Amino acid sequence: MAVRIAYAVARQIADHALSEAPNEACGILAGSREHISRALPLDNAADAPDRHFRIKPEEQLEALKALDAYGLEWIGVYHSHPQAPPIPSQEDIKAAVDRRLLQLIVSLESAKPKLKLWQVDGSSVTPIALVFDTENKAGIDDHLSRHKQVAIVIAGIASVLLLLAVSLMLLPPAPEIAQAP
Ligand SMILES: [Zn+2]
Repeated sequence: MAVRIAYAVARQIADHALSEAPNEACGILAGSREHISRALPLDNAADAPDRHFRIKPEEQLEALKALDAYGLEWIGVYHSHPQAPPIPSQEDIKAAVDRRLLQLIVSLESAKPKLKLWQVDGSSVTPIALVFDTENKAGIDDHLSRHKQVAIVIAGIASVLLLLAVSLMLLPPAPEIAQAP
């Protein structure tokens, strides 16, 4: 299984992590199970935000209401590791109580922020392939993608050929050629 993420959303999450460092940043992920199309940054309410993250239940509820209004599904949680690799800590694994939610971790350990997606189910932690989606999703309703344009042209040619085949079948049979006496 692979999950796509809009590049702008990945960038937004990385920027949020960078702006909160040395504290951990956190937020929720929305879209569909195959595609992360939105990230909502939330406050880190932990007592030691440089080592933990905690989302206030009230703030989470507000964010979920906003998602509902957008018609988006809540699919996961993200947080940052300012100084550690993007691997769930023992605490992260314990905190991931809802197994249906994906866990995205952004690490600032190296110069370039690194994003990694996980599925945490009890004590089993599975990495999920994350595919960056550079397509401009905002314009997809206004402009047909190149693939769709090609598909429409092919469908047009196919229907002309089909019409031709049907009309040929409907033609009366060719007259028999009389034999020469
Ligand atoms: Zn963590």
